[in-house]
Amino acid sequence: MKARIAAVAIAAAHALALLTVPLPGMAISYVFFFGVAALAMGSVVYAWTRSGTPRDRRWWLLLASLALWMTGMALSARQNYVLDNSNPAPGDSMFFYILYVLPVLVSVSSAPVAARKRWAMSIDLVLATLLGVLFYVRTFSIVSVQGAMGTQQATDVAYMLDFENACLAMAALLRYVATDRKDDHFFFRGVTAFFVTYAICGYVYNHHVALAGHPEFGTSPFDALLDLPFLALFIAAVTRQPQRHWHPPVYLVRFVQSASPTFLAMSVLGFGLMVIPGYPTLGIVGAIAAVIGIGLRGTLAQVDLVEEEFRLSRSRDELQGLVFVDSLTGLANRRALDERLLREWHRQGQQEPIALLMIDVDFFKEYNDRFGHLAGDECLRALAAGMLAHGTRAGDFIARFGGEEFAVVAPGTRPGEALALAESLRTHVESLQIAHPASPFQRLTISIGVGLAHPSSDGGPLDLLNAADRALYRAKQSGRNRVGAPDGPRLGAARADTRRMS
Ligand code: GH3
Ligand code: MG
Ligand code: MG
Repeated sequence: MKARIAAVAIAAAHALALLTVPLPGMAISYVFFFGVAALAMGSVVYAWTRSGTPRDRRWWLLLASLALWMTGMALSARQNYVLDNSNPAPGDSMFFYILYVLPVLVSVSSAPVAARKRWAMSIDLVLATLLGVLFYVRTFSIVSVQGAMGTQQATDVAYMLDFENACLAMAALLRYVATDRKDDHFFFRGVTAFFVTYAICGYVYNHHVALAGHPEFGTSPFDALLDLPFLALFIAAVTRQPQRHWHPPVYLVRFVQSASPTFLAMSVLGFGLMVIPGYPTLGIVGAIAAVIGIGLRGTLAQVDLVEEEFRLSRSRDELQGLVFVDSLTGLANRRALDERLLREWHRQGQQEPIALLMIDVDFFKEYNDRFGHLAGDECLRALAAGMLAHGTRAGDFIARFGGEEFAVVAPGTRPGEALALAESLRTHVESLQIAHPASPFQRLTISIGVGLAHPSSDGGPLDLLNAADRALYRAKQSGRNRVGAPDGPRLGAARADTRRMS
């Protein structure tokens, strides 16, 4: 609110000063013009520090635009005071009034997401330089350094400025409205406030003040109109952002973001076409460069997208892999085991039964108590690696069931083979000779329960798990470090005894 009051007071003071002390009017207006431009630059620096994005170089571009505008104003003052030229549109200052939009145009054309920023920036730099040359040629094809020769030329210059300001105001407004990022919203709020006000006030001033009998500064209180864009920028920069009540559709945001890089190229194309009648080679070079620029920018964006898609699909695959892996041992986890079991159960044409070996480390609580949990973890890792490398056959599937329990799915396995497999696992672990003083065996051992079932039988994988669990219980009950044979009512021939097989 304070900023608004200050802005109104400044503009009113300017108009009032011109009304009440009209004699040194030109000097009054120059003081106000430089004053409001300096105020705008100061507020931009303030906004930048407040934005929380100190590395956002777009703020530099906005400052550069304001500095170029001030240069134009300084050249205008030089024409008035040093060269005693009262022409309202001297070519050199006109050139800067046109050129000043360039840095902001580059910022309005910036794509928010561009991985290949260096390339994109190089293209923008070439296009911006070319646009500067086209501005220069276009300006001096209408006016000379001394200024416009007649009303027609002055009107032509005014129209060129109108066109430029209106295009930039619309582009900035689009960026302001169609963004989902806070920093974009804040930056383009200032740019829009400035350029929309500039487009309106510049039009009114040029056509209804300068071209309507008040070509010189200081001869009309309406000079204060030219303060307004700077004051609008000042207000936008120093006041807090209001809460956004309307959020643009995502599609619009993406569309504007993707289309932004073409703003600069479109300007080159437009000005290239404009200078073709007077400077055909330059105009055609400009038009061709614009088309190549748009094409290259589009291709770069496409390459970025394809690469991003590839990266995403790779990390999705990696994540999917992780979902099925036990993080401690690197073995398949319980989820993977359930899936595998289900898949094996429903595999077509299975003649032989599926064996499920349920493995449990003996006296592991004591191991942890004696050596600590970290050593316990290390031990589980060593066990897992040992069983994976030596204990299982090709086609068998080993997983960590949970805690200090592991499971092996062995499809197409007869009862004898299943028992032999379990026994070879048990002896292998025993042969690892992992010291366990608290165990009656003095080393780390495992007990294994063998479950067997025909996939064609009634029931499902859960019954197989239960059968293996029962067998494990029997192995534990009869002393540990042994294999519990399947109880297998469905297998008929399976031995119900639990025996130590070593
Ligand atoms: P039993 O011979 O009857 O199997 O005796 P046990 O001590 O192995 O059996 P119990 O189920 O009572 O204890 C299992 C222990 O395994 C308890 C827990 O501290 C340990 N444990 C389970 N998961 C982990 C793990 O991820 N890391 C470590 N270090 N220890 C674990
Ligand atoms: Mg256990
Ligand atoms: Mg145990």
